[in-house]
Amino acid sequence: MDELEIKKLREAMVEEQIEARGVRDRRVLEAMRTVPRHLFVPEVDPRIAYMDHPLPIGHGQTISQPYMVAFMCEVARLSPDDRVLEVGTGSGYGAAVLSRLAGDVYTIDIDPDLARRAEKILKSLGYDNIHVKCGDGCVDWRDQAPFDAIVVTAAPEEIPPELAAQLKDGGRLVVPVGHRFFTQELVLVEKHGERLTEDHLMPVSFVPLRRS
Ligand code: SAH
Repeated sequence: MDELEIKKLREAMVEEQIEARGVRDRRVLEAMRTVPRHLFVPEVDPRIAYMDHPLPIGHGQTISQPYMVAFMCEVARLSPDDRVLEVGTGSGYGAAVLSRLAGDVYTIDIDPDLARRAEKILKSLGYDNIHVKCGDGCVDWRDQAPFDAIVVTAAPEEIPPELAAQLKDGGRLVVPVGHRFFTQELVLVEKHGERLTEDHLMPVSFVPLRRS
């Protein structure tokens, strides 16, 4: 497929899957129109890469559905200077989208092969405000805390207190929480001084967060 056809697939994805479901943030829509999702799942046909579902990326993990990536970014309310932590680098796609919306993205994966692969592709595509590391995302970027926003792409059973502790005052934590596939909820945690508020947004299905 040539670049123009791929661009059309991406535009259709944004219109039919993301805008149609109510995502309105212009910067999020623009980021979703720009980041070449198909390059983060290179072994599949681009037509599949832009379809309305998650896809396997090896090691039993998945790249999230496009709508879910956009929705989580919108909920995180990112500004161009924000410092963001992403827990669960996976393919690197989510980090690439976040990097169009924020100042610096600190992303981390517990799987060394995935972290390495994502780092390589992000570098080859010229994303220079993304910092990739291998480790336990709940604790291993603590030296860069506090963050304006934290986006978690694997589900813990409870909201990890270590992550809430790494939020700035006014910070947002977007995290799927639950015990198993299909019984999880996407939760927005906001920090106001010492107080945390929780909003339960929608039922979701993410791979489990592993702890080292
Ligand atoms: N955002 C990714 C999707 C990631 S899937 C993308 O755009 O492709 C979830 C990822 O979380 C997996 O790669 C898994 O290895 C990772 N993971 C699970 N537990 C983790 C932990 N404690 N710390 C960091 N990463 C973790």
